[in-house]
Amino acid sequence: MKTSCEIIKDLLPLYHDGVCSNDSKAMVEEHLSECDNCKSELQAMDATLSIDRMEQNLNEAEAVKKLSKRWKKGMAKSLLKGILFTILLIAVLAFVLYIFMDFQMM
Ligand SMILES: [Zn+2]
Repeated sequence: MKTSCEIIKDLLPLYHDGVCSNDSKAMVEEHLSECDNCKSELQAMDATLSIDRMEQNLNEAEAVKKLSKRWKKGMAKSLLKGILFTILLIAVLAFVLYIFMDFQMM
């Protein structure tokens, strides 16, 4: 008995996601081998899904980019803090040294 395209179209999403039973899978594959119509249907499904995945990947990449940007910002901030602190420390040390030397000269 030839499986009707309607049944295959019902099964295609399941087959595509690999969640249908082995019997259904065999049925779909058998039908696909002789029906270009359903084959292109499956390919269209593949294309849609890969676009979805691509968009998802893009969103994820964007999120990672944002995160790393924020992280870099935080890094720069703490780096700046470190530099400022070092400069301040050197200034204080120089000041103390200066006073100390001045005091010795007197
Ligand atoms: Zn068909």
